[in-house]
This record gives sequence, structure tokens and C-alpha cells, in this order.
Amino acid sequence: MSLAEDLEYPHTLIQYQNGFLISKVIFAACELGVFDLLSKSEETLSLRTIAEELGTSLQGMERLLDACVGLKILAVEVKKEGAFYGNTKISSLYLTKSSPKSQYHNLMYYSKTIYLCWHYLTDAVREGKNQSERAFGVSSHDIFEALYRSEEEMIKFMSGLNAIWSICGKDVIAAFDLAPFTMIYDLGGGAGALAQECVSLYPNCTVTIFDLPKVVQTAKKHFVSSEDSRINFHEGDFFKDPIPEADLYILARILHDWADEKCVQLLTKVQKACKTGGGVLLVETLLNEDKSGPLESQLYSINMLVQTEGKERTSTEYSMLLAAAGFKKIEIKKTGKLYDAILGRK
Ligand code: SAM
Repeated sequence: MSLAEDLEYPHTLIQYQNGFLISKVIFAACELGVFDLLSKSEETLSLRTIAEELGTSLQGMERLLDACVGLKILAVEVKKEGAFYGNTKISSLYLTKSSPKSQYHNLMYYSKTIYLCWHYLTDAVREGKNQSERAFGVSSHDIFEALYRSEEEMIKFMSGLNAIWSICGKDVIAAFDLAPFTMIYDLGGGAGALAQECVSLYPNCTVTIFDLPKVVQTAKKHFVSSEDSRINFHEGDFFKDPIPEADLYILARILHDWADEKCVQLLTKVQKACKTGGGVLLVETLLNEDKSGPLESQLYSINMLVQTEGKERTSTEYSMLLAAAGFKKIEIKKTGKLYDAILGRK
């Protein structure tokens, strides 16, 4: 069924209208710990046990669990004694905190931060700028000052962004053969999940996570094991401080934060620092050339409007930014997942 076939009854439109209700059901079930409780239990659990263990009302929990069943992220078995609930394969894999592929922190970031910013989407469209002031009461001038308005918020941001690389990281790192590049800098490398994917796929490389000092200190303390000698750290501001020489620079979800002029400024600095024969790997979600899709990329571009100074771009737009900074032989690889890879060479 598509929107065009809905003239008799607007089925798709009603699904769209209810989109945020669905998001909220998943956010609440994650936040209350429904999937974690069920994953710890050897057997399915009754409504009463779940509500008691999680300290909620019976009537609220019943509706939440039933909606999760409707969404097929919980399974239900109706016995003589009542309904018993258990995780499905999808919820065990992606919604429990302890799963290696957990998207829990990503969903929590959506629930606690992105959702708030999107409340002001109409204002963002009218004004053409991010909504940090309205959503968080902090100046929208320096986007990372606003995003990192407290240590707690910074950790939530880092955990949220890190989660996606457990499901998309290998694809972007394997999109090109990066084996010839042994000294790699991950600029704005955050909590380091992509750096970890990189060293596990290319055991001969070392990856240095370059990020703002407080992010690097938090990555060391909470996210990256000090036992992995192939991952190093560098505290700095990539706009203001020198960028050290390397074979390859990874910029994952960096350019989408910034307007074109700042992207060219940063890429030019990277190009100057890069060894001859080296390169830059951009990891971003790519819009179709005519911007007709994919829907996720279009929505993420709106998210960049409400949260940052940037936007999502097409392959041609990224190629033009790279060319303006002096990179040559630009290649694009679509992965079929959320994030794609673009390699430019010096
Ligand atoms: N690359 C990571 C990923 O894809 O998961 C993080 C992407 S996040 C959208 C942008 C990153 O750029 C953050 O880790 C942020 O701290 C870092 N960043 C922002 N401004 C920076 C600056 N001026 N110098 C260095 N890092 C910066």
C-alpha cells in the first residue's frame, strides 16, 4: 500500500501520524527496563511480575506490553493464569542493554534529546537554525558547547552515537581496502567504536582518536580499553589546533555538523597534513542526487537543522567539498545500510 493508493481511506497517512506514538512506546519500554528484565529471566513473565519488578502500575504496564506485542518487539502467550510476555529475537538483539549489538543508548538519546529538539521543528524551519536555546535553554552559537552542556549530556551523546557502529561500522570500514594506510587519525572520533572496528579489520594499523579534550578524557575513562595499544588519543580542536601527519583521516559524521565553508576549511587543513598518497575517508549518510530519498537521510538532514549548523548531502556535494580542498580520485561506496563511505586521495 502506498500513499497514492490511499484516496478511499488514508491508511499510510494515519501510520505517519502515529509515527511518534510508536517511537515513544519503544523509548518507554527501554527506559523502564522491560527488555532487560525479560532477557535476565529464563522464562516468560506475567504482567504482575513485570509491573512489580519495574515498579510500575499494572494498567499502564499492560498497555505498554500489549503495544510492544503489536509492534512485534515482544511475544505474548495467553495461559489460564493470564498473559505471559517474552522478548522476540529483535528485542533481544537490539533493545537489551547487554547485547553486543544493543541500540539502547541510541534510542535513549532519541528519547531524551532529539525528541525535545524536534518539538521545535516548525520554529527551526521558520528560522533556519538549531533549537538548542528553546529545547535546552543554552546558546545555539557553539553547537558542541550546547550538546555537551553537562558531563552527563556528553556521555549520553557519546554512548548514543557509538551504538550505531555495532551494526553499521564494519560495512563502512570495509567499503574500501584501507590496509595500505597504517597510521590513521579518526578526527572527531568520539567514544571510539569506529576506531575499534578499524583496528579489528586492519590489525596492522594504529588509529588515533582526535577529539575535544573532555571527549578524549571521557572516551579513555569510560569507553576504550587501555589494553588495546593500537588505539591512541589526541586532545585538540580540529579547527584551531594543528592536525598531525597521517596516512588516512577518518571523518565519520563530522561534515554533516557544519556548513560548507567550515567543511572546506577543515578538509583543506586535513589535505595539508595528509601524507602524499594518503587519503581521507568520509562516513556519512548519502542523499540521492535529486534529494528524493532515502527517507532516513532526509529525516537526518532535518535533525541536523534542529541540532547543528550542518545538513546531510549528496555524493556530488561531498565530492565538491573534497575537490575544493584539493583531494583527487574521489570514490563513493554505498553500503546499503544507514552510512556510506567516500574516499578521497592526496
Ligand atoms: N565520529 C563519531 C561517530 O560517528 O560516532 C562522532 C561524531 S559526532 C557527530 C561529532 C564529533 O566531533 C564529536 O565527537 C565531537 O566531540 C567532535 N568535535 C566537534 N567539534 C570538534 C572540534 N572542533 N575539534 C575536534 N573534535 C570536534
